[in-house]
Amino acid sequence: MSLPDRVPSTARSKVEPHSPHYLNSNGALVLFSGGQDSTACLAWALDRFATVETIGFDYGQRHRSELDQRPVIREGLTGLSDAWRSRLGPDHLLALPALGAISETSLTRDMAFEMTAGGLPNTFVPGRNLLFLTYAAALAWRRGLRVLVGGMCETDFSGYPDCRNDTIQSLALALSLGLDRPLAIETPLMWLTKAETWRLAHTLGGQPLVELIVAETVTCYQGDRTNAHAWGTGCGLCPACELRRKGWEEWQSAKT
Ligand code: ZN
Repeated sequence: MSLPDRVPSTARSKVEPHSPHYLNSNGALVLFSGGQDSTACLAWALDRFATVETIGFDYGQRHRSELDQRPVIREGLTGLSDAWRSRLGPDHLLALPALGAISETSLTRDMAFEMTAGGLPNTFVPGRNLLFLTYAAALAWRRGLRVLVGGMCETDFSGYPDCRNDTIQSLALALSLGLDRPLAIETPLMWLTKAETWRLAHTLGGQPLVELIVAETVTCYQGDRTNAHAWGTGCGLCPACELRRKGWEEWQSAKT
């Protein structure tokens, strides 16, 4: 559907050219894990870019349900919008067994979740996002995509140092220099609370997107897909479930 002629040309595109990189870019690569946050990021990218590809990483996660849900969620998103269907490009799943081999965490080993003496949860895989973004940048270079999109978030309770905005944007600079090509890293969730992430999803795709996220995304550290709640499936007890539930409840109460 075309917009009326009276709409200024600058208003026709939802892409806000706040970065010069956008001037030559109409494609993005989204780090897509199958969780709530990366699904919101994928919808955000589908709303803005002409071509959107996805990348996921198999590093020996203890729970496979998140990876298993990736194609289901991608398929679900294409059913929500003709434009999104036409924009969604190939998926890339990279095996990174080396990351699992050097990690000693509750995400990759049979360990209980707990906080470490250093104040970080033992789900922390050192430098994981740096590695993911670097692999994604290499793939984006080959695919001719100039923007990476990731769900890193500073307001996340866990305080992972590789989710900080300074970390991410420093890496964007290093990658642009190292690849000799401008590369932007967009993090639409960086300053959002979990309630605001639910609100963003609703803004982008309405109730159907919210329902897709509730039904199909996996956030639970246990990878639980059997216990259904209003906010999605999960054990309901782990910190990730607790965070997701609290965000949902905060969003629900703000709506009324
Ligand atoms: Zn859980």
